[in-house]
Amino acid sequence: MRKHIVAGNWKMNNGLIQTKTLISELKQQKKTSDAEVMIAPAFTNLWPAFEATRQYPIEVVAQNMHFADAGAYTGEISAGMLKSIGIQTVILGHSERRAYFNETDNDLAKKVDTALANEMRVIFCFGEELDDRKAGNHEKVVESQIKNALFHLEASAFKSIVLAYEPVWAIGTGETATPEQAQDMHAFIRKTLADKYSSETANSVSILYGGSVKPNNAKEIFSKPDVDGGLIGGASLKADDFFAIVNAF
Ligand code: PEP
Repeated sequence: MRKHIVAGNWKMNNGLIQTKTLISELKQQKKTSDAEVMIAPAFTNLWPAFEATRQYPIEVVAQNMHFADAGAYTGEISAGMLKSIGIQTVILGHSERRAYFNETDNDLAKKVDTALANEMRVIFCFGEELDDRKAGNHEKVVESQIKNALFHLEASAFKSIVLAYEPVWAIGTGETATPEQAQDMHAFIRKTLADKYSSETANSVSILYGGSVKPNNAKEIFSKPDVDGGLIGGASLKADDFFAIVNAF
């Protein structure tokens, strides 16, 4: 059975004190679902977050990393650095990285390779813009994002990959894809994987939905057969809301 995963992307929010406070609030929550729980604080708070969650079923993951192993890349963080503090999973290709930091499919293919070479798990994000959806090109766009960044991989690599479909028009906007739109796209993604690899591979990969998931819509979205969890932005910054989403499974 595919893993259910709910991951909170804190983005550039929370200093050290707020990180510790939010984690202590998260630790007081009761988990009643089978979902794996992840949080992605900013780089400066990864280590304190890792230490604070040691005995808890909350995995601390990174929001990004560079594709090089080391070297003259001022301001960047490598896979080895993340591994050195116990981080095993990295989010790659978030739409904000693509839009504001010009990350291309080609950059992302390199980052995915580096993460896998370092035995890390990748949450790979992709999704169409509003114009693509309006023009009916959403499947084409998503297919090319997946193909360009992932289809050089062997099928076995997908054991370490989680996909996160995040329509850009739904991120941070309060506008959510309908559960049917999410299901249709997730089924399309699975078919794309099955056509390239096999239905066994396609059926083993967890595909998360991201885009304004909140306590009041999570249950319906997660009830769809190809939706295996969520990547949560805004609602992951409040412990009650985040766990209401975690427990929506
Ligand atoms: C995100 O940034 O990945 C995201 C889904 O944000 P939000 O939940 O705030 O739309």
